[in-house]
Amino acid sequence: MSRIGVFVCHCGENISRTVDVEQVARAAGKISGVAYACDYKYMCSDPGQNLLKKAVSEHKLDGVVVAACSPRMHEKTFRKAASAAGLNPYLCDMANIREHCSWVHEDKKLATSKASDIVKLMVERVKKGKSLAPITVPVTKRALVIGGGIAGIQAALDIADAGHQVVLVEREPSIGGHMAQLSETFPTLDCSQCIMTPKMVDVANHPNITLHTFSEVEKVEGYIGNFQVTLKHKARSVNESKCTGCGICMTKCPKKKIPNEFDQGHGLRTAIYVPFPQAVPNTPVIDRENCTMFQSGKCGVCAKVCGPGAVDYQQEDRFSVEAVGAVVVATGFKLYSIDRKPEDSPIQGYGEFGYGAIPDVIDGMTFERLASASGPTGGKILRPSDGKEPKQVVFIQCVGSRAREKGISYCSKVCCMYTAKHTMLYHHKVHDGQAYVFFMDARTPGKGYDEFWRRAVEEEEAVYIRGMVSRLYQKGEKIVVMGSDIQVGVQVEIEADLVVLATAVQAQDGADQLAQKLGISYDKYNFYSEAHAKLKPVECATAGIYLAGACQGPKDIPDTVSQASAAAAKVMTLFSKDQLERDPVVAKVNEKYCVGCLACKKVCPYGAVEEKEIRDRQGNLVKVVAYVNPGVCGGCGTCQATCPSKSVELDGYTDEQIMAMIESL
Ligand code: SF4
Ligand code: SF4
Repeated sequence: MSRIGVFVCHCGENISRTVDVEQVARAAGKISGVAYACDYKYMCSDPGQNLLKKAVSEHKLDGVVVAACSPRMHEKTFRKAASAAGLNPYLCDMANIREHCSWVHEDKKLATSKASDIVKLMVERVKKGKSLAPITVPVTKRALVIGGGIAGIQAALDIADAGHQVVLVEREPSIGGHMAQLSETFPTLDCSQCIMTPKMVDVANHPNITLHTFSEVEKVEGYIGNFQVTLKHKARSVNESKCTGCGICMTKCPKKKIPNEFDQGHGLRTAIYVPFPQAVPNTPVIDRENCTMFQSGKCGVCAKVCGPGAVDYQQEDRFSVEAVGAVVVATGFKLYSIDRKPEDSPIQGYGEFGYGAIPDVIDGMTFERLASASGPTGGKILRPSDGKEPKQVVFIQCVGSRAREKGISYCSKVCCMYTAKHTMLYHHKVHDGQAYVFFMDARTPGKGYDEFWRRAVEEEEAVYIRGMVSRLYQKGEKIVVMGSDIQVGVQVEIEADLVVLATAVQAQDGADQLAQKLGISYDKYNFYSEAHAKLKPVECATAGIYLAGACQGPKDIPDTVSQASAAAAKVMTLFSKDQLERDPVVAKVNEKYCVGCLACKKVCPYGAVEEKEIRDRQGNLVKVVAYVNPGVCGGCGTCQATCPSKSVELDGYTDEQIMAMIESL
């Protein structure tokens, strides 16, 4: 006969306003097997926990149900209290009568009756429960950081500085990301490359960091503390260990007119190239699609001129497997493309802005490259069409952002500030020029941000027009921008020499595929989802995987760096232990009944099910059955629901427990 204790919490008034908690406690006291029931104002408080502990020993309870909030909030609290009183913690469960009852109902009578039913269910579950012991797994104290922009670099350096090995993977030929493309950064106007490149060099020289550029994550297996990650190292066609970075191959390459992606297609590069002068590593890569040697088998100039013989046309993609205990995802963002209407996407294009048909309509990143001393114009603001200095520039904010009808309803967060910065950079370089900005709101929440924005308006004389542009079109050398000033209530028409669009920040291409490999969730925009928006902003729901930077949502540099350091701190916390304790709520296969159909293996979202051979004493194969790796199992129960022979069960959610719960109603 069980001796269950039931503790009903008022949660201040959160529960008691809608649920008659005394009535729920009285009803619980009458359930068969319940030896003690009471209600209390705040069960999670110290006195509440002490009440639970005291009742366990005084009433010799062998199971506990706390009817309160969500187990996500306080399951640990009450299991700890039960354990301190000498009870197996897994014989303490919560009945959620707040989120599942008081918060979603108004009728007190019905809510009270539902709360009593929820309590009854949980009492039956605890009655059929058994003592469980936590699972311990070893921790590999080595981290993988995916993405070599400022977020990945910061996370990698922090973890490496703490004495742990880090594998940093970047899919481009160099680390640096978007920050290496920027000219100056708000709100201090310091040179982006000047503050970024020392960090890139630190990564290259750090004894604890192994850098793999031009590489991608191919496959991820394992679980927190024990991941096996397969990396694909794309063929660079240049042997990194032999290359001295002299650059002679690039000067001799006859294919010199390839648009340079780093300059947003406005500068030119050769077929063998490094993306930008401060690239790390400074080893060139051959762009095979544009290389004459790869396309026609003729040329081979770079191999001929390379002294150390580093050029290798035969090089192939190779794969390696890295054992790591934690993963930081820092894959960054891309900008909404104005060049083409997105295909197969709910996001619609901006026909009114020309889809890139007007050469002097550019995006913010292109403006950054024009303003950068290392950019295609050497830092001069010149029109792409004819190289003339623009005297009237129109900046348009919120292109793609905050436009539900176009498919993106979120704010890209950085455009107000970088547009203000662009107007300043323009004014500093073209003293007799005039900047106009079409904007909906000025969102400037950050230290020194509002002052910076005011400076753009008040000191740098940018004309801000509150309203959106309805249309723009080419008229001779000019671009006519038509819009409305909703503050004054008039239509505005400006003949501009250059138009700069503050395009929306979007998730990187392939973000969804990477999420599927990692087993992490993502939102409808393909930004990665944190475990809890407020309380777990850098953790994923998948244990051991952390988020840093704009892969989670639009972010500026200070926020990105802060989140990267926070993710690194989480990794270090994980690495401070040699062993991890995991919840024992995992699936177990009854090998006697398992028929080896492996339906469970196909449905397990965690990849926890393996095949196991059962052999007789002579070593003959008797049958193949499913085996659930307890370290990997996430306890979702999908296999239990799928198994046709009912031979897999989840500890803590056995068929017997679930049937008892159903029958109690
Ligand atoms: S689904 Fe069931 S029977 Fe089939 S392999 Fe898995 S555990 Fe065995
Ligand atoms: S409960 Fe079953 S399906 Fe879910 S993670 Fe564990 S093994 Fe996979």
